[in-house]
Amino acid sequence: LLARLSEIVGARNVAVDPAEMAGYLQEPRDLYHGAALCVVKPESVDQVSRVLALCNEIGAAVVPQGGNTGLVGGQTPDSSGSQIVLSLQKLNSIREIDPASDTMTVEAGVTLARVQEAAESVDRYFPLSLAAEGSCTIGGNLSTNAGGVHVVAYGSARDLTLGVEAVLADGRIVSGLSKLRKDNTGYDLSHLFVGAEGTLGVITAATLKLFARPRARATAFVALADLGKAFDLFALAKADAGAALQAFEIIPRVALDLVLRHASSVRDPLSNMHPWYALIEFASFKDEPLDGAAELLAKAIQSDIARDAVLAASLQQRAVFWRLREFIPEAQTREGGSIKHDISVPLACVPAFVEEASRLVETLIPGARPVPFGHMGDGNIHFNVTQPVGADKQSFLARWGEVSEIVHRLVKKYQGSISAEHGIGQLKRDLLRTTKDPVSLDVMRTIKNALDPKGILNPGKLL
Ligand SMILES: Cc1cc2nc3c(=O)[nH]c(=O)nc-3n(C[C@H](O)[C@H](O)[C@H](O)COP(=O)(O)OP(=O)(O)OC[C@H]3O[C@@H](n4cnc5c(N)ncnc54)[C@H](O)[C@@H]3O)c2cc1C
Repeated sequence: LLARLSEIVGARNVAVDPAEMAGYLQEPRDLYHGAALCVVKPESVDQVSRVLALCNEIGAAVVPQGGNTGLVGGQTPDSSGSQIVLSLQKLNSIREIDPASDTMTVEAGVTLARVQEAAESVDRYFPLSLAAEGSCTIGGNLSTNAGGVHVVAYGSARDLTLGVEAVLADGRIVSGLSKLRKDNTGYDLSHLFVGAEGTLGVITAATLKLFARPRARATAFVALADLGKAFDLFALAKADAGAALQAFEIIPRVALDLVLRHASSVRDPLSNMHPWYALIEFASFKDEPLDGAAELLAKAIQSDIARDAVLAASLQQRAVFWRLREFIPEAQTREGGSIKHDISVPLACVPAFVEEASRLVETLIPGARPVPFGHMGDGNIHFNVTQPVGADKQSFLARWGEVSEIVHRLVKKYQGSISAEHGIGQLKRDLLRTTKDPVSLDVMRTIKNALDPKGILNPGKLL
């Protein structure tokens, strides 16, 4: 097998040395460690096709991988040492930018940051944005249907995708690249591969939507008495700004305290302490200052929705506000063990969910610190729980299942989702079986069996 793989992609693109493979075998949270027969790095779609045809012929399992930043272990092989990691990182050309059609066609291994820069180079905007954008790839973003901070205005990766080129398990290529905004010719096969986590095919390229480039931004850090007020502020901002509202993130005081303790060069933007904060961003598509944001904040304070607020006075200050939000996961890591959840509930239920989940967790583990933060504008909360001060990290993490059971039971009560944006991978595979509608699961298995009858594509993930 190794010899035949080397014939297809060249010996330099088949890694078998443990040191060379190490970076591909564990993921960012260090929850999963795998082993692999080899890491294969094709440089063309034709090579991907021939690799898959070969693996399908002999029944070798293939684990597609992009930037290896996924948070549910979908990109990590199992421990058998027999699986093949298929890295798409060398499939990294930008095939076409068409500003007149507002589209861009890129290969799977192009990083998200490069896509954003390429859009900007033709005075357009690609809105998908997340903290891992320097390393994650478009293939991984689409395969996990990534969300990030601008979903409130532009939707998730699926909403930004016009067409997908993918290689099936048997090596055939589905040529779904398309610039069409309207195409009602049957099943949407491109979107089938989005969110499939590499279980239905390997994405090799995608045509993405581009948007008008924001000319000015206003970024506010707003203090709030409780989450109910955050909900009121969101409603006010949405009604006032409409599509100009680009992000609405919430941060509890406990998270800000962790960031202030562990991050360098940051400080509390407000002089007093408050229980909750919202990080809000507005965009203007005209070359003039955004006066509306200050007026909106004044209205929020006058009507007792907000306690206090500050607008970023410079790009540097804007970056600091965002750092306060994006450093939260890292600050939690430095603080000790954290049990993490990526859930969504209907927007109006966010305050009640967070209040109830926090109470239940604090009762289960006295001293445990709920740190619920994130994309409130999408009803998506990262309901993370940090260990009690001074507790033993491993004993705390050993209770992951108990804590998650409480949280996910509540998600069900509020008719939410156990995975808002990170996907299922290995982490939530068994949970999916017990939470998703059985008929939907049956249809998913039917599709999987039809496209990958030998089950070579990312086995053990998602289903
Ligand atoms: C610091 C940090 C912040 C993050 N923030 C967010 C966030 O705000 N929102 C959010 O949604 N996610 C977030 N993520 C997780 C997010 O899912 C990933 O960052 C990204 O979308 C995955 O891209 P990747 O190229 O790294 O994929 P990988 O991690 O390599 O793979 C992810 C999954 O996609 C599959 N896959 C990868 N490439 C292909 C391909 N070409 N064809 C078929 N299958 C493929 C893999 O098999 C795996 O199942 C964050 C991660 C980190 C580390």
